[in-house]
Formats: sequence, C-alpha cells, structure tokens
Amino acid sequence: MKSFAVADDQFPKSNDKKVVDCSKSNAFPLFNTIFFAFFFSVISYLFVTFRQKIHTATPLYLTLSEMAAVVCFVASFVYFLGFFGMNFLQSMPFPDEEEDDELEETNAKEIIHSTNSAGCVTKISDQDFLTPLPKSTTAVECLTATPEDEEVIQAVVTGKTPSYSLESKLGDCKRAAFIRRQALERITGRSLEGLPLDGFNYESILGQCCEMPVGYVQIPVGIAGPLLLDGMEFSVPMATTEGCLVASTNRGCKAINASGGATSILLKDGMTRAPVVRFATAKRASELKFFLEEPLNFQTLASVFNKSSRFGRLQTIQCAMAGKNLYMRFTCSTGDAMGMNMVSKGVQNVLDYLQSDFPDMDIIGISGNYCSDKKPAAVNWIEGRGKSVVCEAIIKEEVVKKVLKTDVASLVELNMLKNLTGSAMAGALGGFNAHASNIVSAVYLATGQDPAQNVESSHCITMMEAVNGGKDLHVSVTMPSIEVGTVGGGTQLASQSACLNLLGVKGANKVSPGSNARQLAKVVAGSVLAGELSLMSAIAAGQLVKSHMKYNRSNK
Ligand code: ADP
Repeated sequence: MKSFAVADDQFPKSNDKKVVDCSKSNAFPLFNTIFFAFFFSVISYLFVTFRQKIHTATPLYLTLSEMAAVVCFVASFVYFLGFFGMNFLQSMPFPDEEEDDELEETNAKEIIHSTNSAGCVTKISDQDFLTPLPKSTTAVECLTATPEDEEVIQAVVTGKTPSYSLESKLGDCKRAAFIRRQALERITGRSLEGLPLDGFNYESILGQCCEMPVGYVQIPVGIAGPLLLDGMEFSVPMATTEGCLVASTNRGCKAINASGGATSILLKDGMTRAPVVRFATAKRASELKFFLEEPLNFQTLASVFNKSSRFGRLQTIQCAMAGKNLYMRFTCSTGDAMGMNMVSKGVQNVLDYLQSDFPDMDIIGISGNYCSDKKPAAVNWIEGRGKSVVCEAIIKEEVVKKVLKTDVASLVELNMLKNLTGSAMAGALGGFNAHASNIVSAVYLATGQDPAQNVESSHCITMMEAVNGGKDLHVSVTMPSIEVGTVGGGTQLASQSACLNLLGVKGANKVSPGSNARQLAKVVAGSVLAGELSLMSAIAAGQLVKSHMKYNRSNK
C-alpha cells in the first residue's frame, strides 16, 4: 500500500512554477495524437496517389479507398480548425468600442486581477496610464499541484502534517496557502472557487495578521470626498459592500466643503488596558488602590511602565473595586500605533514590579474587561479610549436646500427625536447617531485598522442646532473612543498602506510621532460628520428607501 506519510524535514522546498494555461485544458493526449496521425497519413496518401495518376495519365476518378481518405482528411481538418482555430480567432485584437471607451477612462496604473469560472486568476498586468487593455495579453493562469505538492497535500488531508505548520515547514508562504487550500477542499468536499489565492503577499501577513491563510476576500474601495477638514482636503477611502454608503458620504463631504469645511479637535489620546488582580481581603485590595492613586508613586510606576517602548507613555491609572478584586485601568499614549500591544507590555512591567511590594497579589488576567476592548462599555463612552475627537461644521441654509435637499428645521427636529430621544428610548450606549459605525467600519477596513474595534470606535453623539438666526445648521459629532494607528497590525499590508498613503498618514510620523494616527482619527470623525449629514437629510427628505432601491438593488 502506498504511504502518503512525509517526514517533516523531507518536504520539497522548491516551488516550481505551477502555472499552466487553463484555456487549453490540461491535456494534449490520445485524441490529438490520433487526429494528427490521420491528418498527415491521409494527406501523404492522397498526394502520392494523385501524383501517380497525373504521371500515368490515369483519369482522376476517386476509388473507394481514395474517397475514404478524403473524408478522413476533411474530418481531421475540421477537428484541427476547432482546436487551434478558435484560440487563434480569440487571440485576435478585435476592437470593442464600448469597452475601449471605458478603459480609456482608467487613469491609474494598476494590476487588475479577476477570477474566471474555474477559480483561476486572470492576470492583466501593469497597464500604462490611459492605455486600453489589449485582450490578447490576457493570460489565464491557474495553479496545479506538482507531485511534490500532492505528497504534502495528502499528508495534511490524512492529519500527518498539521495545517498550521505548513509555512514553517515549506518556507514558502504562498505555497503553504495553496496546499492548505487544496487539502481543505478535499477534506470538506467544498469548493473555494471564487476566493482568490494569487495577487497577495502571504509573507507580509506571517506572524502578524492572519494564520492559516487559504486566500483573501476582496472588498471594493470607494472614495468619498474631498473632505475639507481643518483647511486640508482628504480623499477618504472606504471599503464596503453596502451600496449608497460611499455616495452618501460623498454628498455629505460636498455639503461640508460648500459651507467652508469642518473643524476637528482632539480632546484626548490614550490607549487603555485594565488587568484584574485578587487579594485575600477587600481591605488588602484597597491598599493597592490607594498606593496606585498616590501621586508620589506615579513617577516610579510611569518609569517602570515606559521602559516597554519608546512611544508608550503612562498617563493615568484608574481603579475600580469589586469586593476583593481590583481593576486597574492604565492609560498611555502610543505614538502612531493603535497601541494594544504597547500598553499590554507596559502593564506587564508594572504588574511584575508591584508583585514585590504586594506578594499576596494574585494576577488573574492582564485584561479584566475594564479596559474595555471590543465590547460596548460605558467606561469607554464616558472616559474615552484611543482618540477622543469632536468635529463640527456650520452648513449654510442654501447648501442644506441645494445639496442635502431638505431644510434646517427638519434636520434639527429629526436629530432630536431620532438620534437623541429615540436612542435614549432604546437604552443606547454611545449610539446617539444615525450610522457612525457604517463610516467607521468602511474606513477601518480600507486603512488596516482592527475592524472589531468598530464597537467602541463608533460611539458617537450627533448634535444638530439651528444657528445664525435659525438659518444655518450647526452639526457636530463627538466620538470619545476612536482606536486607530498608522503602524503595526494590518496597516503595513500593501492595499491598506496605499489607502493610508492617500490620506497622507502612512506609517510612523518621524518628526512628530503620533501625529499620523491623530490625523487619521480626525479624518474618521470628519467622515462620520459627512455621513451623518447625508443620511439624516435623506431620512428627513423621505429619500432613504428610494436611494437604497437605486444603489442596492441594481438590475445588474
Ligand atoms: P500595537 O501596539 O498597536 O498593537 P504594534 O506593537 O504592532 O502596535 O506596533 C508598534 C510597533 O511600531 C512598536 O514596535 C513600535 O516601537 C514601532 N513604532 C515605530 N514608530 C512608531 C511610532 N511613530 N509610533 C508608534 N510605534 C512606532
């Protein structure tokens, strides 16, 4: 019996190019050989007999065998025409006026990937600016397993090789993803057709962003803006599959721009982590609480905390007790990083330090949920987490009418009854807005933020008030917990990094560490302001359902 077992260190390290041309199927086998043989033997037979007849002046009537030879000739000719001829015709660069026009509008140098029905990646590479894409250069590629791959796939399928170990064993992240994907399809009996594998740098996510990859999900990125914020223009990238969202935010940006722009203020900047520790008695737990709250101790604790990073700087420690358990909410600045790793390292340093003065302190967990990360919690709504930002604009009366197609009084009334009273009736926690989360999520996905932090990052109260004698609209969003970074996590991936670059906040700010992340938080708030304006106007004007039918239910 053939064994599929492969010793760990025996995996072939090579990654021979496994790209084949799918358009010609995989085979050139028996049929083609038979027809080839037929074709040439029939031709040579007919040639020889007819030459002989001409030489000997024999009449050119067809004998039975010659008629059979002609039939075979025609049949094999038709076969070859079908086999080679179609490919040849398809490769001819026939102009298609409509599509060419569209392509000429493409003004970005880009690599376009799409997936064909076989799940193979169609690659049209490096098109020049304004150059139509020639169809003849479209190469249909798909990956097939080499015999070496087959061995590894079988080892994963049979459980001899853990799927998670493929990257380290093969030393090639893309090949690992390919093999894992093949094994997964065989184990589950389900196809992953449509989930692309090609066109992604799997090395860039190793040990940082995603384990056991089998491909990547594509999310379209739309651009809202420009958004005029604090005198600067920002084109805001939004990754979403919700029709209307980008168009609506774009309309809000237009209204803000036409009214002179929006202004943002950063109120606070500090990431939090709150470990939980337990003592034998509440009295003893309170002793640590008083120790931490003593201003004289803060400097020592801060210097212990700050050793963890060049950028993490301890700001406060806020305590809460539940019986003999103590929760310590550490807040620190984190430069351009969102900061969860940074603050956790600093907290661990302090816990280690405290253990010598409080040996009876039982550390239950580095995170005791009083932080509070990725869960709706009043502590974030009240105290803030990450960046706390307020953003405002005065929208002129005529802009409300012309761009937003409503009036100031209707907007103010709707805001009061929906975003304030309605949310109060619903018992909302930080949800005093129309759809802040829509914009936050889309910008987070586009710029490589942690999408799960959308929970608290979307806390927002939207306020609207008639000003300038009731003519104009003062609108503001106050968002206490915008958790963003421009270094670390998903921000370093190629697509996300390109979106950060578009906003001018890519990577670490060398001159003033932290200002890129703070700027990004302001852009998030400004975009939410635009989104709130537009959606609220659509609802006030009774257009919401109509526009969603138009953009979400396209016949296409
Ligand atoms: P997070 O704390 O958000 O999870 P990471 O720890 O993954 O982020 O990334 C932060 C890393 O980036 C740290 O190693 C830090 O030293 C480095 N770094 C470089 N420049 C900066 C900067 N300007 N601000 C913050 N971190 C920076």
